[in-house]
Amino acid sequence: MKLRESASITKFNWRNFIWISAVHIIALTLCWYYFTWQAFIVFAVMHYLAGMVGITFGFHRLLSHKGFKANSIIQNFAAFCGTLACQGGPISWVGQHRVHHAFSDTKYDPHDMNLGFWHSHIGFIFNRRADLNSIEEVSHYCPDIAKVKYFMFLEKNMILIQIAVGLSLFALGGLLGSTAGFDWYNAMSFIIWGIFVRLVSGYHVTWFVNSATHKWGTRPHNTNDDSRNNWWVGILAFGEGWHNNHHAQPRAARHGWEWWQLDQTWIMISSLKKLGLVTDIKLPNRVTKKDDTIKNGQETLPKVTPELIPHKKAV
Ligand SMILES: [Zn+2]
Ligand SMILES: [Zn+2]
Repeated sequence: MKLRESASITKFNWRNFIWISAVHIIALTLCWYYFTWQAFIVFAVMHYLAGMVGITFGFHRLLSHKGFKANSIIQNFAAFCGTLACQGGPISWVGQHRVHHAFSDTKYDPHDMNLGFWHSHIGFIFNRRADLNSIEEVSHYCPDIAKVKYFMFLEKNMILIQIAVGLSLFALGGLLGSTAGFDWYNAMSFIIWGIFVRLVSGYHVTWFVNSATHKWGTRPHNTNDDSRNNWWVGILAFGEGWHNNHHAQPRAARHGWEWWQLDQTWIMISSLKKLGLVTDIKLPNRVTKKDDTIKNGQETLPKVTPELIPHKKAV
């Protein structure tokens, strides 16, 4: 992977700043008034759909690392759910993530922990690098994803999709509330919890994988970066907190390698395997006891992959 020349240009992105600020303000000020148990269930379902089915299963382990193959309906549904997390569409998410693996904890890492916790947690979204700020630029980091028309559709319509899902939740809340006509309070509570609170929780869960797991935790594997295994991010982020395992063998679809390393995304992948809906799962060598499992898998990857790039710390 060659970094784009624009990687050295950063500019404050007001659109991202206003969006992230507005979502937080709306969620934190209105969640108390609009709390109902029905809305909380909607929040939990949407949180799992966007965060686990979408981001960790879909964007991360399937599209970014090709840790397994999925039936096209499952793959397309997962990509749709990932787009609901509003962390960019599949192209910008995968492109940025591959740059992270290729240049982890160097000055070319999009969320370089060396610039401080807040930069790696949230600051990099505001202070935006030009190579990650346009679809055309970021497509160079993931041509295999950018060439799929459906992924491009999701990328370009992320906000419209969110609005459509929000209106659907609004209608559902209104109909499921009071039996005497449309329940406006319940409709609003579905929007506040199903969209705004869920976006905030999804953001911080993903951002902790960029920040906390490059700062706090154990390093059982001697990777050429500062990735850590962090148990509480492991629980919060559906198994993604076993991040030192992940950096040691990025293609492995399973991140929790020990029996006690809870990996909810792996539970989902292995369950779908039993149903025949996912195949060709790349397992960590530690589990297969074969040294060549991951290496052989790399041969089937498209040309631009982080694993094929010499991993060097920048000076
Ligand atoms: Zn990392
Ligand atoms: Zn990764």
